[in-house]
This record gives sequence, structure tokens and C-alpha cells, in this order.
Amino acid sequence: ASLAAVPAGAGGETPRHRDARASPDERAHDLLRRMTLDEKIGQMVQIAVVRLQGDCRDGGGELGEACMKTVLHDHAVGSVLSGGGMGPPRNTPRDWARMVNAVQKYAVEHSRLHVPVLYGADAVHGHNNVLGATVFPHQIGLAASWDPSLVHDTARATARAVAATGIDWNFAPVADLARDRRWGRYYETYGEDPLLAGALAAAGVRGTEGAGGVKDVASTVKHFGGYSEPANGHDRVPADVSPRYLQDTLLAPYRTAVEAGAKTVMVNSGAVNGVPVTASRHLLTQVLRRQWGFTGVTVSDWQDVRALWTRYKVAADYPHAVALAVNAGVDMAMEPYEAGDFTGALRTAVRQGLVSRERVDEAAGRVLRLKFGLGLFERPYVDAERADADVAGAARDLARRAAADSQVLLRNERHTLPVRATAKKVVVAGSFADDIDDQAGGWTVGWQRVPGGVRLPGTTVLAGIEQAAPAGTRVVHAPDPADAVAEARDADVTVVVVGERAAAEGEADSPRPELSADQQSLVGALKATGRPVVVVVLAGRPLVLGDAAGTDGLLMSWLPGTEGGHAVADVLFGRTDPSGRLPVSWPRRTGNEPLYHQQLPGTNSGAESAHDVAYDFGAGLSYTTYRFDAVTLAAASVPAGDDVRIGVRVANTGGRDGDLVVPVYASRPVSEVLAPPRRLVAFTKVRLRAGEEKTVRLTVPARALAVTPGDVDGAGSPRVERGTYTFTAGSRTAALEVT
Ligand code: BGC
Repeated sequence: ASLAAVPAGAGGETPRHRDARASPDERAHDLLRRMTLDEKIGQMVQIAVVRLQGDCRDGGGELGEACMKTVLHDHAVGSVLSGGGMGPPRNTPRDWARMVNAVQKYAVEHSRLHVPVLYGADAVHGHNNVLGATVFPHQIGLAASWDPSLVHDTARATARAVAATGIDWNFAPVADLARDRRWGRYYETYGEDPLLAGALAAAGVRGTEGAGGVKDVASTVKHFGGYSEPANGHDRVPADVSPRYLQDTLLAPYRTAVEAGAKTVMVNSGAVNGVPVTASRHLLTQVLRRQWGFTGVTVSDWQDVRALWTRYKVAADYPHAVALAVNAGVDMAMEPYEAGDFTGALRTAVRQGLVSRERVDEAAGRVLRLKFGLGLFERPYVDAERADADVAGAARDLARRAAADSQVLLRNERHTLPVRATAKKVVVAGSFADDIDDQAGGWTVGWQRVPGGVRLPGTTVLAGIEQAAPAGTRVVHAPDPADAVAEARDADVTVVVVGERAAAEGEADSPRPELSADQQSLVGALKATGRPVVVVVLAGRPLVLGDAAGTDGLLMSWLPGTEGGHAVADVLFGRTDPSGRLPVSWPRRTGNEPLYHQQLPGTNSGAESAHDVAYDFGAGLSYTTYRFDAVTLAAASVPAGDDVRIGVRVANTGGRDGDLVVPVYASRPVSEVLAPPRRLVAFTKVRLRAGEEKTVRLTVPARALAVTPGDVDGAGSPRVERGTYTFTAGSRTAALEVT
């Protein structure tokens, strides 16, 4: 192919890339051959919107013509992001849409070939940086629903809101695993289990990409791969994990999500086994593309290409860092503050022969194909005047249901819950009872405090309880701890709402993830009144409760978002049956990190159990009761590599309708390499009316049974060993021969 740029429309005919009937591939190819090297390089960089605002540095403010000229015209930058809370001066949906439209208009009108930018944002639980947008529970809460269709629907609603503000690309879902509570990003995951997290991340991808709003939105599987177990629990610290653990456990959820059709993948900022993932040809090319067949765009995380030089010191200068990343397989560098440095460094790398022109064509071509595939050339703008109506308050019912389905009731002694309709006095205590910002969690406009003193619109737990309480029940809010204890003495029940402050990334790291001392002593004093006490936890991870343990009621509400107050109240007053189940293990004490249910044999030897859980993975109570009657197999034996079909007979033996999570675990009496004695291999959720019995059908994918054999480093490929497998649901089992 000729490397000389061909002007658009040369020869008078409509250029192929302008023909909407041509495939994204053909169009990208045609556009690419008209581009200069500099223009192609521009497609490989993503810059933060703050560089286009105010003084063109990081001051925010209105978009500036001169800033846009430097970035979008001079450096021909192909992508812009609003990282974290970077938005327009006021955060209304219309302001966002106008801002994105204006960026887009500048790019389309001032780039030589009229190429629109790809605009990305972190809408990780609803369009969370936009004032008035509905905020869903964070991923960890959605995971407690064990319901892929719910995750799908919230992702779809999020994508519609994202699209309505003109944004094309959402940096979600997260497919990392929650295995170390110290790590600040624990709550951004779908829990500790690779099968559950993979299924939910795949649902997130499908929901985002098939959203069908005013425009298409691309999803991002992040942070590929092995981001979640930094050695000492601090975000972005290098991880040392065995190849077997990496392959069989940590990488599994990303794979499921990628195979669901994700258009993009974001690269782990950290280093795994001595190699920064941004420079890992093994992970980015061998595993992701060759083994898994990914054909989309890979984007680095925040400033990570430069970090190969400045932080990790695996490159002597910026051009060498760029060469490492691009040759490893990074197509786009998120270099938020430095368009010119990156493009200059890549030009130097190409000139010095460190990066081939073919590789630049490949990377830029993928970015262009994504833009064509999203329809950006035909529809670069949205109608900003519709954005408020499309976004503000949209999908509230869904958010309320999502928050309700994520509630996990862990203790309910003396039938304290639901609160009786005859209750005269309910006391609401705890500093988290009336704090919408902490309830919504990090990555939310409220977490960075809403500008201008405006409150994030939403319903706190206090407000939810006040609205849900029956007419004869007096709700007394007692924000002061001493008042709370005094009021509790004659209360029918005291609901004390405790938790953790909203935080994101490294600021959320915590070496001792425990309930704070003052909150423990408040709950302790409330318990000492002898009256019923229910603890509601608003946090992104299980907190060791200390003196706050052992109350009559314990409800894990996670970070339930703007409708969370209603959801919590619905469970407390019995309008909703709590159907959430823990997607993580809840430790009794601090120090057992990492902690997860798939412990290898040998973990529990010794005087003190290393797997000392207060509540197990999958734990959760309902207001009704269930029975697992039988596990049946479609066949007594299957050839290795075949899926396994299973039936589980379940009954609702209680007095009210409910949704039951049905997990199926597999175990092996003998395995060539250490294998978890209990491995989640399938799950479903089923609606059962009071008294109803049902056989639910599940399929165990062969892959869920595979392990990587080998006695040294597990570097082979995973396979299903022959022999006996036992499948368990509830306390019922069935044995299968794999031949
Ligand atoms: C985070 C990503 C996020 C990106 C853009 C990074 O610091 O690790 O998860 O998508 O910023 O805001």
C-alpha cells in the first residue's frame, strides 16, 4: 500500500470511506490510505477534555478555541475523554451534550479529513458524573443480585444516558476480581468468583453495545489483565501471581467479557510477574488477540505509556516507552495531558525504526474501524436540547429494583425483620443514614461534591424509611450518637446506618478494612440497650465489624446509588424479599488477605483457619425459606470437553414468593494439580411462588471445569481432566464420570 497521503475525494468521485453502505473495514482502509503518518498517529492518542478547556491545562471551564486548535487540529488527536469528574462547568445533561457536540464539531470541521473524535467517559454505575442522572449500585452490589439480566438492563440504561450526552465510549465494565479487601477498587468489580464475574461482565458488554439509544456506545473490558491483586493491596502496585493462577482464575472473566463482543479493552496499569502489562506482548497480543480472537481496540490506562519510562523504568526514554507499548499491542494511548509529547515520541520511534509503519496502520485502522462501526461519520452530534429529558431521572424504577435485588440480609435474629406494621417507633441512627454522596460511592458527581452546593438528587436511607413507614410508625432521626442511644431505649427497632466514605482508586485503599472505632462504639452502645438493632452497611467491601457484630439484624446494602434509600426501606419493611447473596467472602477478622471461597487444599491446615469467614461467599437470608431437593445429570458420563447439563430441584417452603439464587459447585476427589475443593461452575436465579417446586436447568460449560496441568509453572493450556466430578447444589450432590 502506498504510504503517500491521498487527498479525500481525489478524482472527483465520493471517496469510499464516505459511503455508509461500505463496511467499516473497507471505509477504514480507504480513509487510512489518504492519511499522513502524523494523522494516523493522532488517531492513536486520547487526551483529557480539561486540555480543551479554560487555560488549556487542567483548569476546567468553557472550551477554548485555541486549545481545540492545538489538540484537534495541530496534533490531529483522535480521541477525547472525560476522566473521573471532568465535565462542563455545570454538570447538567444538556451541558454535557453541548460540550461533547462542540468538541466533535471542531474535530469534524477542522481536521483535514473531517474525522470525528471518539469521546470516552467513566459511566461505571449509571451516567455518574452527570447531575440528575440516575446512579445505579456499583458493580459489587449488582453482583450480589447474581442476575445477568439485571446487569444487562442497567448497562443498557447507562449506555442510553451516555449516548444522549453525545458520548460514544464507556469505560465499563470492570472484569477484575475482588479478592483483596485492602485494594481500593474492590467495589468496582463483580466480586471474587471468576465464573460469576465473567458472566456479569459479559452481560454488561451486551447491555452497553446493544443499547439502541440515540447512538451506539462501545464498552470497555477493563483492566486487562490481572489488575486486582497488587502485591500489598495498594492500587497499581506490581502483582506477582503464578501463571496458572493468572490463566485459570484472574484472566477468565476478561475472556468471557471479550467473547461477548466487547469493542474495546483497557489495559491494566500495573505490572504482572515483572512485566508492566502495557508492555506485555504476551498478554496484549498472544493471549488477547491470538488465543481469544479479539479484533477491537486496546487503550492504555491513564498515562501508562509514559509510565513505562517514568514509573516502571523499563524504557530509557519516551520514544522507547512508546515503542514498547505499541509493539506489545496498545492501539491507543490514554495520555490525558500530553498530546504533543506522545505524537512526537511515536514519530521518533517510527523514524528510528523502533515501530513499523504497518503497526501504526494497524492500530490507527482499528480506531477508524471502531468509529465507522459506531456510525460516527454519519451521526457525529446529538440533539443537546433533548439531553435533559432523556437523562434526568431516567430508569429510576430500574435503579430501585437493582438496589433492592442487591441487598444481602446476613443476620435476622428474633424475627426482627421485616419491621412489624404495628411498630410504634423506629429510630434511625448513624452518620451514613442521610448522606447521599457516600451512599452513591466513588466515581460519582456527588463523591467529588456537586458544584455550587447542589445536592446529588436521590433518596437517602433515612428518606426511604420515612416514606415507607406505615402511618402508625413514628420515625425518629437521631444523628447524634448520645441521642440515638437515648431514643433507642424505647424504640421497637433502631436502624443504624454505618459505612465507608466514598472514594476512588488509590484513595480508597485501606490496610485495615474495618468499621471505624466510633461507629463500632455507637453500635455497641445501641446493642447494650437490649432493644432490637439492625445494622445497615453502606460500603463497597465487607468490613470487619468488631464490636458492631452480633446485632439482631445485618443488612449489606453496598453502594446502592440514588434510589438506594427506597431499596433499603423496602427490605426493612418487608415490601421486598431480600434475594441478594454475597458475591465475596466476608472475613471475621483482618489479616486474611487475599480471601476467597476457592481456597486450595491445604489452606486450612494449622491452628488458625486462614479462611476464617463470618459469612461465606453465596450467603444471604430471605423472608421465605427454600429447600434444595435433588441434583440430576442429563447423562452419567460425558466425554472430556463437553458441556454438562444439570437439573436442580428446588422448593419454596415458606410463606411468601421469592427469587432464589441457585449456585452449582463442582469438586474432584483427586486432581493432578491443586484444585479448589469447591468451584462455582454454573448459577441461575429463579422466581418461586410460596409453596412452589421447580426443576431448574443449568449448563456447566466445559471450560468451567478446566485447569492448567503441569508441575512447574502451569504454562500449558487449561484442559478438563478425566475422572469423577461431584456437583453440589445446596446439600444435594450428583456424581459424573468424565471420560
Ligand atoms: C482508571 C480507569 C479509568 C481511567 C479514565 C484511570 O485512572 O484506572 O478505570 O477508566 O482512569 O478515567
